[in-house]
Amino acid sequence: MEKIQEKIRKLAKEKGYMILAHNYQIKEIQEIADHLGDSLQLARLATKLNAEKILFLGVDFMAETIKMLNPEKKVIVPVKAATCPMANSLDPEMIIEAKKKYNAPFVIYVNSTMKSKMYADVACTSANAVEIVKKLNSDVVLFGPDKNLAAYVARKTGKKVIPVPGETGYCYVHNYIKIDDVLKLKQKYPDAKVISHPEVPEEIQKVSDYIGSTSQMEKIPGEIEDKKFIIVTEKDMVNKLKNKYKEKEFIPVDTAICNNMKKNTLKNVLKALENEEFEIEIDKEIADKAVLPIKKMFELMEA
Ligand code: SF4
Repeated sequence: MEKIQEKIRKLAKEKGYMILAHNYQIKEIQEIADHLGDSLQLARLATKLNAEKILFLGVDFMAETIKMLNPEKKVIVPVKAATCPMANSLDPEMIIEAKKKYNAPFVIYVNSTMKSKMYADVACTSANAVEIVKKLNSDVVLFGPDKNLAAYVARKTGKKVIPVPGETGYCYVHNYIKIDDVLKLKQKYPDAKVISHPEVPEEIQKVSDYIGSTSQMEKIPGEIEDKKFIIVTEKDMVNKLKNKYKEKEFIPVDTAICNNMKKNTLKNVLKALENEEFEIEIDKEIADKAVLPIKKMFELMEA
């Protein structure tokens, strides 16, 4: 461990902070985290942690979700500007209008703002989107903000899934991965299995052996004999996989980088702990409504 990493670990312990980091954080940040995961895994985990203070390393909608599910805990982040353009592409008016026009339930991807969640009927993650849509008692479903995940869900469920906002709703990290880059990697590593995130465009999904969320990507290599994997998602996901499966090989797509996630650095993490800021504060009235689609999702998952 570098000196600054040791300092962070020491200070976190002294001040009683649990460090939760998203899978897309850089390797050095992954190394100082108490827990790594996707946004919902971490938010749920936070409810079970025996810690009153959380330092979260990801982007803003994830920190909001953690705070929503853990209102009594202090949640801090190192940079306020770490946001998600995809989450911000969907606003409440779009949901209200779409619901009026189609009279159908709105399924909101957890990668969305708290204000938008207030108007949705049920939330989903990339891991359970297919299951949630299948369980809804409607053949037409509104889905946002990710259009690629919406198309994937439509193919898997056979339902009419209408993406909102539509063409402008996507994760730039996944949407702009080039099919040629994936094909070149397949050529270079012919014995590798391709695991892609459902936020990638359909043409990449079609050349993939497996499609899954980051939590599913983590399970697949443990369930099959294959030794080599091309991982089509944010490039730092492979750090976690390499750590978990030391005897297997993971090849990232080097161009898939989320600049927003990378706004968290060791330097500003240390500063966040020293100053115990920036604290996430949410409006209780908004949070009380925004948490309902998430609770509905948990209910459907258990049903
Ligand atoms: S990887 Fe995509 S969805 Fe995740 S924070 Fe970055 S831009 Fe948003």
